[in-house]
Amino acid sequence: MVVLVVGAHPDDIEFGCFGTLARLSKETSIHFIVLSAGELSGPKNKRIQECKESAKLLDAKVTFFDYPDGGIPVNVEIIDKLRFYVEKIVPHAVFTLYPNDTHQDHRNASKVTISSCGNVDEVLFYEVPSTERDFHPNVFYDVTDYFGLKEKSLRCHKTQRKKSYLNLTEIRGLAEYRAYQCGRNSRLFEAFCLYRVIK
Ligand SMILES: [Zn+2]
Repeated sequence: MVVLVVGAHPDDIEFGCFGTLARLSKETSIHFIVLSAGELSGPKNKRIQECKESAKLLDAKVTFFDYPDGGIPVNVEIIDKLRFYVEKIVPHAVFTLYPNDTHQDHRNASKVTISSCGNVDEVLFYEVPSTERDFHPNVFYDVTDYFGLKEKSLRCHKTQRKKSYLNLTEIRGLAEYRAYQCGRNSRLFEAFCLYRVIK
């Protein structure tokens, strides 16, 4: 069993679903594909290294695609490249960004994932700070026991420390809100929108 997770930038996966991945990693292999090195927000090699350190917390594999930060395209070439990995990895589930996101790279990462994952039984969208407010989750994962690891994964991204949205108090606040929203007060949850599940 493998979960494939697609991010546009080196820290997207940590924001969106690291707690869930930590929970799933007990029984599932995790593979990250990161479409850009996030070079607009820090030196490329450092950002790649930070992502690798974070992935190591889950023993996850990481593949970088090296598309330009800010200019991740939607075209046949990137879709084919992603499809090649999907056919090689054969994931039972794919997590990706939400298609209605204010950041163009996040939107495009979502679109190319959808196009390349036609044969995957389960596709879920995770949320990041730039996700539009029309994100209405319908899948909730209790990550209370894994939240410390999620925080540790976010701390790996030292070059992003001064970013206003990398605020661990607010990230925890969102997890508390998602728990409240699904009626599990005093827990910590990550939330997803289900795109497709085939049983
Ligand atoms: Zn991002």
